[in-house]
Amino acid sequence: MEESQIMIIDAISYQPDMEGLMRQLHIRPGSRDASDLAELAHQAQTVARPKVMVTAAKIAQRGKNYVEIAGHTFTSRVLAVNLQNADEVYGYVATCGIELEAWANTLDDMLAMYWGEAIREAAVGTALKALDDALSRLHPSIHLSTMHPGSLADWPLAEQRPLFDLLGNVKGAIGVELTDSLLMVPTKSVSGITFPVTEDYHSCQLCEREGCPNRQAPYDPMLYIDKYQP
Ligand code: SF4
Repeated sequence: MEESQIMIIDAISYQPDMEGLMRQLHIRPGSRDASDLAELAHQAQTVARPKVMVTAAKIAQRGKNYVEIAGHTFTSRVLAVNLQNADEVYGYVATCGIELEAWANTLDDMLAMYWGEAIREAAVGTALKALDDALSRLHPSIHLSTMHPGSLADWPLAEQRPLFDLLGNVKGAIGVELTDSLLMVPTKSVSGITFPVTEDYHSCQLCEREGCPNRQAPYDPMLYIDKYQP
């Protein structure tokens, strides 16, 4: 991918993982709920069009608490340290897609709505896997990590704005809109900046939140002091 070249990944097929969904939703195989869920997942599979918009961009300038990427300034001490040896990063938005969002909005039963949420989360997971695969093909020997705006107080949700500015017309390309309150619609969308690393980085290592179901790494109380404290 050339500098600032936009790539749209939209030929993504969503294949529901029924075993995974039943485990997550505590549904017994062979039960009536299992067959209702299978019907819902089949409907979702028929309409789902997960998508990703991603751009490669060069780092133009950097300071102690900021990086300027292709003319857009991102303010975060952790991001600045994480990118200190990077020349190029990938900014992206991945989504379950407006088609699946529209389908979910037709559900009027509380249980179906709850299951629909899990299905849409799985669909955005499929989009993120497609992004991982694409970046791995581009850089087979480089290890990559990602930061998401809003995952740390150090890099708040307001940083969605420069990320969307970096990408350009996200709504036109993949249908994802950034609202005035900085949420993405469709809500089952994920944004981030992916960068090369020599050792694995997860924002969860710097996050104290207890009982988070999405935690990917244990909290390390010394990491900020050792690596990020100015
Ligand atoms: S522990 Fe949870 S809230 Fe904290 S950064 Fe990880 S996923 Fe986000």
